[in-house]
Amino acid sequence: SPELARAEALIREIANYPSPGILFRDITPLLGDAGALRATVDALIEPFNGLFDVVAGLEARGFLLASAAAYASGTGLMPIRKAGKLPRPAASVGYKLEYGTAEVEAHDDFAPGTRVLLIDDVLATGGTLAAAHELVERLGYVAAGTSVLFEIDGLGGRETVADASLHTVFRS
Ligand code: IMP
Repeated sequence: SPELARAEALIREIANYPSPGILFRDITPLLGDAGALRATVDALIEPFNGLFDVVAGLEARGFLLASAAAYASGTGLMPIRKAGKLPRPAASVGYKLEYGTAEVEAHDDFAPGTRVLLIDDVLATGGTLAAAHELVERLGYVAAGTSVLFEIDGLGGRETVADASLHTVFRS
């Protein structure tokens, strides 16, 4: 659609952020455009219509998309947070970063078997979403799908996430 084409053009590339040699994909111009935002959120959820009970967003930019996706699909929202932000984390899963480690955490407020659609803005190495999958399973939920706005090719993210349902709206 024309809206999706405009959305893709509104993903800004920032060289050498947050560190030298990294080409950062900045989605804030896309978020600021009404038609682009709506088309992108619709494209994120479209393959999974009727297949999920709740949308999980990855802190922090994943929250922005997941919240809109939950509203658009009439479901609830589950924030997956970085370590130490939740008042009562029920589970946490650690994963490796280029330098050091990180953890994702969530509460256990949903019933066992709840079908969770995972959403994030950018797929790079896939470490974050792979950890989120493990977290969802550890909480007794079912990973119903994975949807990402922008997939960076060549970093092995798709292989690391290892979810046949992985859907990405844009890629390079
Ligand atoms: P991964 O775990 O290496 O796949 O990195 C994905 C996580 O890092 C996501 O939560 C993204 O928000 C963030 N990230 C990695 N690269 C970028 C980028 O170029 N733009 C925006 N976020 C990024």
